[in-house]
Amino acid sequence: MTTTRFAPSPTGYIHIGNLRTALMNYLIARKAGGTFILRIDDTDPERSKEEYVDGIKRDLEWLGLHWDRTERQSERLERYHAAADRLREMGRFYEAFETPTELDLKRKKQLNMGKPPVYDRAALALSEAEREALRAGRGNGVWRFKLDQERIEWNDGILGDISIDAASVSDPVLIRGDGQILYTLASVVDDTEMGVTAVVRGSDHVTNTATQIQIIEALGGNVPTFAHHSLLTGPQGEALSKRLGTLALRDLRAQGVQPAALLSLMARLGSGDPVELQTEMADLIDGFDIGRFGSAPTKFDVNDLFPLTARYLAGLPLADVAEAVRDAGVPDDMAEQFWAVTRENISTLGDLGPWWEMMRDGADPVIDDEDAAFVAEAMALLTDGPFDGETWGTWTAAVKEATGRKGRGLFMPLRKALTGQAHGPDMSALMPLLQVVRARE
Ligand code: GLU
Repeated sequence: MTTTRFAPSPTGYIHIGNLRTALMNYLIARKAGGTFILRIDDTDPERSKEEYVDGIKRDLEWLGLHWDRTERQSERLERYHAAADRLREMGRFYEAFETPTELDLKRKKQLNMGKPPVYDRAALALSEAEREALRAGRGNGVWRFKLDQERIEWNDGILGDISIDAASVSDPVLIRGDGQILYTLASVVDDTEMGVTAVVRGSDHVTNTATQIQIIEALGGNVPTFAHHSLLTGPQGEALSKRLGTLALRDLRAQGVQPAALLSLMARLGSGDPVELQTEMADLIDGFDIGRFGSAPTKFDVNDLFPLTARYLAGLPLADVAEAVRDAGVPDDMAEQFWAVTRENISTLGDLGPWWEMMRDGADPVIDDEDAAFVAEAMALLTDGPFDGETWGTWTAAVKEATGRKGRGLFMPLRKALTGQAHGPDMSALMPLLQVVRARE
């Protein structure tokens, strides 16, 4: 039985980087008919906020990434302490008292000597009396997991065969001096006890995975499969980490990006498969294959979301956008016609308002100097409204007759005079919606 989890820390909103993690884990679980867990990694009481938990859930629901159950690490602290006790009994857990400054100094010395900056395990040599004295002077120490110094290997679902020398990694701190359980311990206990079989996360977690494999083995759990997706960069390959804050899903939603666009892009970006609009989750699930993803950094361009959004919207019936059409101010009896005319001419639903304003109030006419006389002559031939589906054809035929103009030289100045733009909907369909023609004034 396949079980995956998305494990955000509620210290911020979901951004495009964590969406990738969430989506991949979701698709793997659904494709296998398995379970997808939403795990809230809230062991840090200072940085975790309920507002973010709510925000994360709202974003996942908006995307349609429904989870089968929620787990909260803050409610499982006794499980983590129980696991810590077992590690202590096994002799795999030790208390260390170095201050951050001391550790920093050690690292600098090692680097100066050309050695990797790995914790030197000085604390292992402390006698009980020395520990007592340090505890009395400095308070409780941190608890480190004692790695077996051998190679840690796994076949990564994206990166392929990985082999990491445990001797090049510091014994990870699993419990802080103030007793706070850290992510690594909580995560392995949860993955083991919740029966997680596949873990997909960012490649910044590769070293964590190495240490986690040893801790899971020490605790007698089943090691899940791991896949680490590449980091996202901006369109020029620039680091995205600092900008991720501005790529929060809630901001993209506010900009009018549609879930189908986000899902379609993020389920394919960085894989060998082309990005194409998928409107059905079932198709995304069927077509997903983690093995198609590469290890190279993946370029992400937020602008790619808008054409996909446009294509998605263009395919929707009025019923699916009725609220947005109403919000744009369009009277109900004109909604059907309005949507038919605008659906292929918007990038997001936010463009509906300006289209309706243009139709209702008339556009600022755009008239090139050389067309001024022609437009004036044409306007004199335009009948009074209301217009209908025949108006454009009848009118332009009359204008052609009177002026001798034809083709683009005939149509374009009229379109610009009426709509203020060189591009837009089919004019025959648009005319019946025009309430005011300012070019006549
Ligand atoms: N809370 C961790 C994070 O956000 C989870 C990492 C994991 O998937 O294990 O990085």
